[in-house]
Amino acid sequence: MIPEDLERQILLAKAEGAVPFLVNATCGTTVLGAFDPLEAIADVCQRHGLWLHVDAAWGGSVLLSRTHRHLLEGIHRADSVAWNPHKLLGAGLQCSALLLRDTSNLLKRCHGSQASYLFQQDKFYDVALDTGDKVVQCGRRVDCLKLWLMWKAQGDQGLELRVDRAFTLARYLVEEVKKREGFELIMEPEFLNVCFWFVPLSLRGQQGSPDYDQRLAKVAPILKERMVKAGSMMIGYQPHGGQANFFRVIVANPALTRADLDFLLDELQRLGSDL
Ligand SMILES: *Cc1c(COP(=O)(O)O)cnc(C)c1O
Repeated sequence: MIPEDLERQILLAKAEGAVPFLVNATCGTTVLGAFDPLEAIADVCQRHGLWLHVDAAWGGSVLLSRTHRHLLEGIHRADSVAWNPHKLLGAGLQCSALLLRDTSNLLKRCHGSQASYLFQQDKFYDVALDTGDKVVQCGRRVDCLKLWLMWKAQGDQGLELRVDRAFTLARYLVEEVKKREGFELIMEPEFLNVCFWFVPLSLRGQQGSPDYDQRLAKVAPILKERMVKAGSMMIGYQPHGGQANFFRVIVANPALTRADLDFLLDELQRLGSDL
């Protein structure tokens, strides 16, 4: 998101009589892993009195790394943040947090059902601590326990190491993709999403020919079918932003090694050698 464009959109919407309320910025987009410039976006929100929500489902865990947390600079200015520890940190599915800067008991005012037989108010402690009447559901799992236990077991340092190791491995994969013939990076990644095409022999050097994109788009689905049938790998692919189907490897599993990433590229070459 480009802050100047955002401001233009807000002014346009207001001129047309709309009442903008919320801006959704993203830390770590799902496909390319891009981070929005939060400080500049927060400035725009402040100027126009808008709620700033940050979707940090994927990228929020980077805050645990002293080396990489600069990617989220400005996140402290958000009104709300969504964060999925079940992604980069590897907490068991599912474990998602919604963090709110709120002093007005907003969630309770929105969702509280004030059932007299639930969530008694005359307890011996501060009932503001109870989460029961702040959410839509009633019965639900204690998903935060998985994060708490993992954090206790790993410590700040252990979780930081997970994040830092993932960045190092993703960088390794990027360098290998650049080195190998037939692999083409979509863009320099900011995060752990390594996006690339495998360009088979029959298509190499043919960029610019009229049906190149159409033919390239067929490669990833064929390779996916072959890897699934061989039982060797699972890699996601998709078209995006006008680009033909490309592979998206998310380097996040703490058990991954360089040898796994070498295997991944070798295997794509092997499976695609006759295309
Ligand atoms: C995964 C993801 C989501 C979806 O999160 P759920 O908790 O599965 O709904 C939203 N935004 C981004 C950027 C994501 O990567």
